[in-house]
Amino acid sequence: MRSTGIVEGRFGWAVLLALAGVLSPLVPARAGTGLAARGAAAGESTPPDTATVVLLGTGMPYPDSKAQGPATAVVVGKRIFLFDAGPGVERQMEAAGLPVRGGPVTALFLTHLHSDHTLGYPDLIFTSWVMGRTEPLRVYGPPGTRRMTEHILAAWDEDIHIREGGLEHSVLGGYRVDVHEIAGGVVYDSAGVRIRAIPVPHGSWKWAFGYRIDAGGRSIVISGDTRPSPALEEAARGVDLLIHEVYPESRLKAEKRPGGEDWPKYMKSFHTSDRELGALAQRARPRKLVLYHIVRMNGTDEEILRGIRAGGFQGAAVIGHDLDRY
Ligand SMILES: [Zn+2]
Ligand SMILES: [Zn+2]
Repeated sequence: MRSTGIVEGRFGWAVLLALAGVLSPLVPARAGTGLAARGAAAGESTPPDTATVVLLGTGMPYPDSKAQGPATAVVVGKRIFLFDAGPGVERQMEAAGLPVRGGPVTALFLTHLHSDHTLGYPDLIFTSWVMGRTEPLRVYGPPGTRRMTEHILAAWDEDIHIREGGLEHSVLGGYRVDVHEIAGGVVYDSAGVRIRAIPVPHGSWKWAFGYRIDAGGRSIVISGDTRPSPALEEAARGVDLLIHEVYPESRLKAEKRPGGEDWPKYMKSFHTSDRELGALAQRARPRKLVLYHIVRMNGTDEEILRGIRAGGFQGAAVIGHDLDRY
């Protein structure tokens, strides 16, 4: 009988930690395990890894050739942490010059399970396998992530069968996923990288997270989808980089379609306007505010940045574009 492909999260993590503790003196300096970085710090000769943000996709649900689905990479040395897997994620990793062979992604963190943030999840699972991944893909996400993963693996059951049993000779079980369903708090803390999930209010979703990443002497907060969140604001206080979703408040009006009268109500419950974000950023004072997942409603960059200013934030604020690095 074929395995479900899901690796039990907590058990896998415990085993990994135990192995790290037992084997660290024996394990060669291999990128991605985090063990090498710890050894380097003790050796005092190698500079610590820096943390670089690569915006892989800055879009939202509507197709836009200039903005792929939401996905952000935080690269720390040879480790790659992905936040969301919108459509196009694997191709954008390649376009950004990030490695795609051999399963280079250390872990994927999902903000929530809306389709625009997860349509690239099967891409990440299966394309990374095609590109030589042999270890389970480690994924952190809200309750429901495990069920989604099981359904994805079931949906591609025929593909798995053909690749494993046919002339491709794909690595047996190389598609597997190590799912960790989370409820907030520190979800990853290893070799100088600390990642905290912050529950945020995203309309009627029971679970949605922003993330704060502390690594390489930098602090980064990624909002995911949320209306103004006091918890996220607190987490973003004085950070180097706040990457936040936004829409132009001046463009918000009822739409001429069935249910369109609820559009303003929907946006206010699920998302954050430029003025609201300007006020939030004025209180939190990040060193730089990067706007992504912009539901434009025909609003221009200038309009949105004016909205941020009108909200009160006068610090550095930029529109994020696909493949920008910070
Ligand atoms: Zn979204
Ligand atoms: Zn959403």
